[in-house]
Amino acid sequence: MLEKIIKSPLSDVFIPEKRFEDYILDQLDEYGEATALANSKSGEGYRYSDIRTFTRSIASGLVRHGFKQGDVLCIACRNNIEYPLITYGVLRCGGVVTFVNPIYTKGELQHQLKDSGTTIVITTNDFINKIQEAAIGVASVKHVFVIDQNVPSGCLPYSSLSNDSGDMCPRSLLSNPKQDTAFLFYSSGTTGVAKGCMLTHHNMIATTEQRGHPGLAPKTGSFKHCVIAAIPFFHIYGFTYFLSHGLTRGWKILTMYRFSPELYLETVQKYRVTMLNMVPTIAVALSNVPDLSKYDLSSVKGMGSGAGPLNLNAGKSLTRKMKSPPFKQGYGLTEVPLCHISPARNWKSNSIGILVPSSECKIVNPETGKSLGMGEEGEICMRGPQVMKGYLNNQAATDATIDKEKWFHTGDIGYYDNDGHFYIVDRLKELIKYKGYQVAPAELERVLQGYPGVSEAAVIGIPDTLAGELPRAYVVLMKQAKGNVTGEDLIQHTKDQVAPYKQLRGGIQFVEELPKNATGKILRRVLKKQFLKN
Ligand code: AMP
Repeated sequence: MLEKIIKSPLSDVFIPEKRFEDYILDQLDEYGEATALANSKSGEGYRYSDIRTFTRSIASGLVRHGFKQGDVLCIACRNNIEYPLITYGVLRCGGVVTFVNPIYTKGELQHQLKDSGTTIVITTNDFINKIQEAAIGVASVKHVFVIDQNVPSGCLPYSSLSNDSGDMCPRSLLSNPKQDTAFLFYSSGTTGVAKGCMLTHHNMIATTEQRGHPGLAPKTGSFKHCVIAAIPFFHIYGFTYFLSHGLTRGWKILTMYRFSPELYLETVQKYRVTMLNMVPTIAVALSNVPDLSKYDLSSVKGMGSGAGPLNLNAGKSLTRKMKSPPFKQGYGLTEVPLCHISPARNWKSNSIGILVPSSECKIVNPETGKSLGMGEEGEICMRGPQVMKGYLNNQAATDATIDKEKWFHTGDIGYYDNDGHFYIVDRLKELIKYKGYQVAPAELERVLQGYPGVSEAAVIGIPDTLAGELPRAYVVLMKQAKGNVTGEDLIQHTKDQVAPYKQLRGGIQFVEELPKNATGKILRRVLKKQFLKN
């Protein structure tokens, strides 16, 4: 029987066979002296013409410090204006960029530094102590650079890179854009702990071209958007939306160090921001601001959300208060940066949009693998040039996610309607999303099982209006630990091991046993159903 494969309704895009940094930098020249990036608080920033200059300096400085083709550099910062300069500087050297959430604990940082084989880390003063401690335990790390003024002993000033004369900058390198990894973004995927997603130069150019299709995001001529980058650049959505799509469109990108609704709204008013792209948590937080009318938000022309299910009530209330057109949505994953997105016209706010160009999609029954038709719910599978090469050093996980016919199995359940608009209804995979951040149940379960007296643990996500989901644990104690180990003990233990956003905010419940299938696999879905019923 023929498979039901959905093709994008849009014409194919042309994907230049280039390196990603060349593809980006070549497009920036036309914006010359316009502001590319500005710190939303201080106003300090870079013009488009600066990006090429500083990219050269940084590439040259890195070479001077022994950074070679194929080496990995890790950026461990909150959003700042240096991100694209460092990123494109690293790529210019033939290197690979990995981003880490700087609020990670020492153990989490070490996992990523080791796994990625990072040789250089760049961070800021507020994270340096932890980063230095983590880096000391990772043999591959040779240097740690600090962006701010105070450079502790053992670290190097970032200014020694950004002020470099540039004369050691390698010429544009020849490469195999379809094979060469440009980025290692970390994701837990459908199961297990964080893995390095190898995104090639070709993947990154493909996703930028797909997003930029005139049917999705028509060019705006001499009008250039002004946007707030409150979504972290270390997340695929933040990076691709602002630092590839946004820069190639000549936008003014205001970096926000940490989101707060008031600061966000003040920034919209002060800079006359024209488009608000957010994660669902930001939409809820903004919709809860009681006195929105005290801000002049008349510059806003549209709003969009991604990285998690949009709370439709919050979305509607916000668009009404903002007098803005209905929300647009985008759907993607670290492994496949963009799959579906609202079209430029006639979009449906409750839908993740239409399939991006040059891509194929099918909805399959997860049990039988049979492809399904319009209106039928099943697992969303994707095929296209934006699908990652695989997980770093983890062929088994790659094979479990990308099948022999190159279909990427997203672990999300959805369907499409008769206009070709897609909807997400559930998640088949274990992943929990807290404020758009990934929380891997397997990681928390491992942490809990590491506590003396814990026999077994299962972690699920429970619904929460503001955060989307909260991690909640079910714990079986060993006989001798009963009455001795408390929920507070386990909460404290988890706090010491994992980043704040992974904390068990949904609570801990002690149980006698966990539901399992015949082969002993824990049935998290059963726990979730039980929780929702009570
Ligand atoms: P990440 O790799 O962190 O980007 O997480 C990808 C996952 O986020 C997807 O597999 C979905 O479960 C979820 N996700 C992303 N965008 C959306 C959306 N628009 N609606 C619902 N879920 C989404």
